[in-house]
Amino acid sequence: MSHPLEYSICPKDPGAHLFEVSLTVAEPAPGGQVFAMPAWIPGSYMIRDYAKHVVSIRAESDGLDVPLDKLDKSRWQAAPVEKPLTLVLEVFAHDHSVRGAHLDSTHAFFNGTCVFPAVEGQEERSCRVDVRPPPEPHGKDWRVATSMRALGDEQYAYGIYEADDYAELIDHPVEIGKLAIGEFDVEGIPHAIAIRGSVRVDMGRLCHDLQTVCEQQMKLLGKPADLDRYLFLLDAPAKGRGGLEHRWSSALVFARDGLPAKKDQAITDDYRDFLGLVSHEYFHLWNVKRMKPAAFTPYDLSTETHTRLMWVFEGITSYYDDLALVRSGLIGHDSYIELVGQTITGVLRTGGRHRQNIADSSFDAWTKFYKQDANARNAIVNYYTKGALIALALDLKIRVDSRGEYSLDDVMRECWRRFGETGEGMPEDGFEDVSKSVTGLDLDDFFDAAVRGTGELPLEPLLKQHGIEYHLRQSLSSTDRGGKPANDGSAPGVWLGVTLATPSGRTTVASVANGSPAELAGLAPGDEIVALDGLKLTKANCDKRLKRYRVNDRLDLTVFRNEELLTTRIKLAEAPCNTCYLVQAGDVDSAIAERRDAWLGPE
Ligand SMILES: [Zn+2]
Repeated sequence: MSHPLEYSICPKDPGAHLFEVSLTVAEPAPGGQVFAMPAWIPGSYMIRDYAKHVVSIRAESDGLDVPLDKLDKSRWQAAPVEKPLTLVLEVFAHDHSVRGAHLDSTHAFFNGTCVFPAVEGQEERSCRVDVRPPPEPHGKDWRVATSMRALGDEQYAYGIYEADDYAELIDHPVEIGKLAIGEFDVEGIPHAIAIRGSVRVDMGRLCHDLQTVCEQQMKLLGKPADLDRYLFLLDAPAKGRGGLEHRWSSALVFARDGLPAKKDQAITDDYRDFLGLVSHEYFHLWNVKRMKPAAFTPYDLSTETHTRLMWVFEGITSYYDDLALVRSGLIGHDSYIELVGQTITGVLRTGGRHRQNIADSSFDAWTKFYKQDANARNAIVNYYTKGALIALALDLKIRVDSRGEYSLDDVMRECWRRFGETGEGMPEDGFEDVSKSVTGLDLDDFFDAAVRGTGELPLEPLLKQHGIEYHLRQSLSSTDRGGKPANDGSAPGVWLGVTLATPSGRTTVASVANGSPAELAGLAPGDEIVALDGLKLTKANCDKRLKRYRVNDRLDLTVFRNEELLTTRIKLAEAPCNTCYLVQAGDVDSAIAERRDAWLGPE
């Protein structure tokens, strides 16, 4: 007997980057079945209109062609038929990101959102997918990695896979290629990592470290009832960084040189960054995949879906990602506070934090955060980084005000119990309500200021009460991300107030800070920098050149705008102290040391 919804997918033409997808509906709607491609993928809040990659589409039933009517940008309707209806489509796949689909002679990767149409009215029905191999001579040594349930016993193989409904079907990205696979257990649950790319990695160490991170996260909120497997899909190209969370897996991109080789022992900055990424996506299996904003319950994949809670789901996840590294002992306190210093620096360098609050940043993610223009730094605040700092401030405040009785961990556990385990979805005021009811603290002023205000967060006094000193200094160079003291380096002392880019080797203005010398001198995004004070100025020599000048020096600055040479006078100003680093205070009383250890774990 046939299944109600049978999909198949084949990497049919790797050279032309075309997947062939078919879908047979056993009981099509009597009035004419409607099919829809998603406009967006959960976890990435931007309209992507995946239907635009459908190159051809046709329908047939009982051996005869069935007319298809295009209803709008994402939907088609087939003429009424009485027998099972089959849709066949070709989909172009050359988006090499965790949100897309990609097919070439080296591998195939896809998210269901990119290739599988939904059957309107039958979204709740279970689906089967036949994952087929590419035609010869492609893919001789390819294997299949996905968290979707295989019907057969063979692992990492072509064949039939199964999902309970359409939402689940599109929540299992699939990688087909030459894979290095490592396996490990977390609380008895089988976990695996499948790595694609020419990578010589110490798989034993990698699995050990991933296990440590996952076990730490599992301690916080406990094992979800339906978590019976988990898979990290990792693409390891020369450059890149990204991740997308799913319920039983995550898709990651990370530059191969950051992964540990056989002889490596230390945790390099890049590897620490990788572990933070893994930790982040794994934490999402609770926070946003199972516990969601009520607005996402269920997802409407046809249009933008707004919530003021993105900071709870991305910011708090960003807080717990690095925190799990220090709590599990993978990194020490100093390494952790260096990361916090970098996050603070990133926020302090964004003037937009005084213009946009974090609730509005969440709400407008679709059109602002995901569609940043040259003015973004001046106009918007990042709900990941500022959200992480709000989580940090809230955690420390709860610990101090409750005299160590409660922490953000207790708030998250109660949120998980109420909105995650029940699948109810978190109402817009849910997080703040739970924070107050769990701790018994009056947090209204805190949330008004932190979430709906645009002032600075009270991090300095809160960190001090945990034995951490907060310091600010000037930036040493355009590559200085903060987190560390200046040591021997000296800052230029003056600044122009621009960020520079180097398209095709030219130095151009990427953005201009409001109120900066560059803005007062009339510089605009896109200007090609030619010279400062008669000497060639580039992104590479800018920091060194500026060291030769002092505050209030007036200089000629020459740029090309639309290939027209413009010369303007620029008056240099003192560089802002917007680079943060944190230091563990040496001599602290035992109460403070205890509080610090309760937060970060003992060293
Ligand atoms: Zn995230």
